[in-house]
Amino acid sequence: MAIDELLAQFHEIATSPRKQLDKYLAQGKKVVACAPVYTPEEIIHSMGLVPMGVWGAEMEVNEAKKYYPAFICSIMQVVLELGVTGQYKGVSAIVIPSLCDSLKSLGQNWKYAVPDIPFIPMTYPQNRKPAYGVKYTKAMYERVISDLQTATGAQFSGVALANSNRVYNEHNAVMREFAEVAADHAITAAQRNDVFKSAWFMLKEEHTALVKQLIEEMKKTPKDESKVRVVVSGILADSPNLLQIFDKNGLKIVADDVAQESRQYRTDVPDMENSLDALAQKFADMDNCTLLYDRDKKRVGYIVDQAKKHNAVGVIVLMTKFCDPEEFDYVPIKRACEAAGLRHLNIEVDCQMVNYEQAGTMIQAFKEMA
Ligand code: SF4
Repeated sequence: MAIDELLAQFHEIATSPRKQLDKYLAQGKKVVACAPVYTPEEIIHSMGLVPMGVWGAEMEVNEAKKYYPAFICSIMQVVLELGVTGQYKGVSAIVIPSLCDSLKSLGQNWKYAVPDIPFIPMTYPQNRKPAYGVKYTKAMYERVISDLQTATGAQFSGVALANSNRVYNEHNAVMREFAEVAADHAITAAQRNDVFKSAWFMLKEEHTALVKQLIEEMKKTPKDESKVRVVVSGILADSPNLLQIFDKNGLKIVADDVAQESRQYRTDVPDMENSLDALAQKFADMDNCTLLYDRDKKRVGYIVDQAKKHNAVGVIVLMTKFCDPEEFDYVPIKRACEAAGLRHLNIEVDCQMVNYEQAGTMIQAFKEMA
């Protein structure tokens, strides 16, 4: 398939998750919704269920306002709004991790607001690296397995999980390769995002096959070195209106530290005898994310290193409005960029935002900075 056809396919999937949900339901499959940011998809996949992401929609929130105050991140509000208004009809359950205070409240609100879709909590430990943290993660995975069995009737096996761990590791590797190839070849910010976003609405083995084809086709094209190279960081970077401004100003995303994009693919499940132990160890091994406790804030150095490695002129932080974890990290990122001689920009984003004119002016000024 030609590049344009492949990119059109990624765009179609990224922009029509309901169509994907209906496709899997028509195939007789059961679908489990996965809330941000880290859900143990490997477990869901191994039980013959389809894990499907539920974040990244842009819309006006009405019903969810009955459950939330105005000063909470719009990602949560939109997930609840979609649930309350029946957009996830047909889904067998939703798994909601507890990685920030807003996510904790999403699970509690979900139970009352969307009673027909069972809520399965995934409680992660704050201290994920010591042996007791890994043991706790494993125990919580066992609880998720038990709740999934009750909600769907599907069964769990360690052998099936070992296979799913391999499927996810292969997908991780392909997404990492895609990010590198996209850094040096012609692809717009919006098209790059379509490739990442579509992964949330497809079985990973299907997505892997499609991304592999795209990588092969992209490698045949000449290198694209004419643009202003930037690293993007944040929770989401998927607003079409905002990405258009990147493209209009000739900004090329050469690496990202975005929770919905590359943060998902940095860490593989290690090779261990017990597949559930291995999955718990994967969570312990993860780093460089605002939602993963790290008193040394190594993420800041990681972002600067990515910018240097990819020859970027600077870092653009897309700050989700009312996201406490991300807000805490911004000042250290700004200072580290200044110390490293990198440009930096902070743009506030929100799933209910339609007008990015102010962001457009800021991006244009960022581009023209000497
Ligand atoms: S955007 Fe921030 S506050 Fe909202 S769920 Fe994600 S981490 Fe939590």
